[in-house]
Amino acid sequence: MYIPSVNFHRTRSLAEASVLLEFYGSQSRILAGGTDLLVDLKAKRISTDHLISINHIASLKTITEENDALRIGALTTITQLDESQLVRDRFPSIVDATRVMAVRQVRNLATVGGNIASAVPCADLPPILTALNGSVVLWSNKGERIVPLRNFFLGPRRTDIHEAEILSGVIIPNSGRNFGAAYARFGLREGNAIAVAAVAASLTLSANGTINSACITLGAVAPIPKVVEEASNVLCGEKPSDALFAKAADATVAAADPISDVRGSAAYRRELVAVLAQRALSKALQRAEEDAQ
Ligand SMILES: Cc1cc2nc3c(=O)[nH]c(=O)nc-3n(C[C@H](O)[C@H](O)[C@H](O)COP(=O)(O)OP(=O)(O)OC[C@H]3O[C@@H](n4cnc5c(N)ncnc54)[C@H](O)[C@@H]3O)c2cc1C
Repeated sequence: MYIPSVNFHRTRSLAEASVLLEFYGSQSRILAGGTDLLVDLKAKRISTDHLISINHIASLKTITEENDALRIGALTTITQLDESQLVRDRFPSIVDATRVMAVRQVRNLATVGGNIASAVPCADLPPILTALNGSVVLWSNKGERIVPLRNFFLGPRRTDIHEAEILSGVIIPNSGRNFGAAYARFGLREGNAIAVAAVAASLTLSANGTINSACITLGAVAPIPKVVEEASNVLCGEKPSDALFAKAADATVAAADPISDVRGSAAYRRELVAVLAQRALSKALQRAEEDAQ
């Protein structure tokens, strides 16, 4: 199976890439690490005449602290994210996701921007970045837009990226004190297995130990990384306990909309969500309690 013949454009700036995207319109695609796109082209799931490579835009490869937030450039690879001391210290829940993603060869190429922009329901970063209240930065020659991830995904492989826009990075706001988050996912084997079901959770504790705010998101069991508002309603204002987390897990299962496929039936995935929700909440609580010390 070969990649069909395409025109390849190597760009060196966002402005150059945006001009080409505008010019070639629906006949063009952005190429980052290529771990999704080249596979789709080979399998003829998609076709395109022009590949616009953004891989040489150095400004998209950095992880920085800016204005009380962490900014992750779109071309940051999964390996870079996984090995970043800044990310490990500030948002260990992101590393919950990166350490289970794919194998080294794929992780060295796969980018954060590609993982988000492809909007595949089983992608690992969108659920945790959404639970961390992250936003994407969308750049075009007309200007920059910042869109919260919870509004960004429109359906499987559909996002709010407009024509000629490039996802330039992700912004994760500082969480403040007493905050914890975690990502729990189930794959059929260790390494190179995509998620069968996943749950991300974040919570903040108030001074008296009750839950001040909470966010639960689903991965691989809904068309998008869905935010489960019903679970937040169960949790907020309550003292954390196993019984409370079991109730929140029930609300999370009710919000899931899994498919049945070779990796597992919808019923099996619902069982997984119940377990993963409780695991993610318990780990998030542990981190929030450590953060409070
Ligand atoms: C063997 C294998 C195992 C895998 N395992 C996992 C796994 O465990 N978990 C997981 O989540 N994923 C997994 N993946 C999927 C894949 O590696 C990720 O989704 C990857 O992060 C995509 O990034 P990329 O840079 O390769 O994107 P590309 O393939 O280059 O692009 C993907 C899509 O996003 C668009 N795009 C890319 N960058 C941008 C941008 N900056 N702005 C706008 N649009 C953009 C492209 O046009 C294309 O439509 C696996 C893939 C393979 C081949």
